Amino acid sequence: MGFDIARIYLGVNKGWTVNQCAKKLLEWYDRHCRPLPWRQKINIYHTWVCEVMSQQTTLAVVVPKFSEFVKHLPTIHDLAACDEQTLRQLWSGLGYYARARNLNKGAKFIVEQLKGRFPKSYHEWLKIPGCGPYTASVIASVCFNEKVACVDGNVVRVVSRLLALSEDVWSSSGKAAIQTHVDQMIPEERPGDFNQAIMELGATVCRKSKPLCLLCPIQQECLAFADNCVEICPPKKPRRDTVDVELFALVFWRKATDTVAIAYRTKGFLSNTVGFPLIPATEASEIKRVIQSLEHLQLLELSSRFSHSITHHRISGNILVAQELENPSINTESVPWLKLGLPKSFDWVPRTVVVSKLSSALDNKVFKLFENYILGYIKSA
Ligand code: SF4
Repeated sequence: MGFDIARIYLGVNKGWTVNQCAKKLLEWYDRHCRPLPWRQKINIYHTWVCEVMSQQTTLAVVVPKFSEFVKHLPTIHDLAACDEQTLRQLWSGLGYYARARNLNKGAKFIVEQLKGRFPKSYHEWLKIPGCGPYTASVIASVCFNEKVACVDGNVVRVVSRLLALSEDVWSSSGKAAIQTHVDQMIPEERPGDFNQAIMELGATVCRKSKPLCLLCPIQQECLAFADNCVEICPPKKPRRDTVDVELFALVFWRKATDTVAIAYRTKGFLSNTVGFPLIPATEASEIKRVIQSLEHLQLLELSSRFSHSITHHRISGNILVAQELENPSINTESVPWLKLGLPKSFDWVPRTVVVSKLSSALDNKVFKLFENYILGYIKSA
């Protein structure tokens, strides 16, 4: 790959030293760090929760959810004892519910196996179920002053520009090389603040587009700035080909109580999240046939379609509304279509509050189209 590590720790390109760069970053951080709720006082539990929440979710969403989360579950013991439904409610809006389950799993491990005592080093944190190198490095450096570098997307960008790297920094070997660079940069003093400073710089100044180089504390050291190649550094992630996916979303509606059925999806798209069953188009005709054979259900296919993108998947689909004509509960054990891969059980939720239970934007789109139909139906009835 040809990363030139000498560039970073000898400062040969511009005569700057790593210490100098770290010092500037720390001074800048002291003046400009955002006053986030988990930064007020170091708390291992809070650091852990906020780092997991912040992965793939914006701070604007995380901050209010974090405060609500730690208010309801103030200790690791509360998190370990938290039931699935409460956890889902507290996590709703943050997406990627698997992260919440991992947190809960990790909390149980700490409470049951470690008698509620938090691990105190990077390597010990790696043994906690669901805790990866990034989370372990944040906790170890911020809470225990361990000299271990945190490398997220922001850090990859800052370091790539600082050193004007032209290599593929997004591959696993590229990230490993960045990790080596930052390991060389991280100071003995205040390693946690250094990690936060470089991540903060990437989030607020050395932004993906339109970086604010004129406000940057390490502009003098930055090789990309000097070489006038900031805009092309780092090289873009190689794009994966887009895959088109056709799905059917299944919405059960019980008219008598104006409730809809949602379920915990265990497989397929958006597995491990709560929402409407999603059926691959190839299986839809069989499911339609079975629903139509049930006397108490009336099946309707809405004319409106939904579309949504998840990573490189471009999803589009139709909505099937299965309306209950009488008022029997759907017997989850006996209804034959459960054998077709649909969830084992449903929660019937009042239509007016179902949005608060949905965990993905796709479900929200489906619900909105369904509700438009229902409101029209009720009006015309
Ligand atoms: S000078 Fe610009 S490109 Fe270089 S680190 Fe600062 S913000 Fe990023």
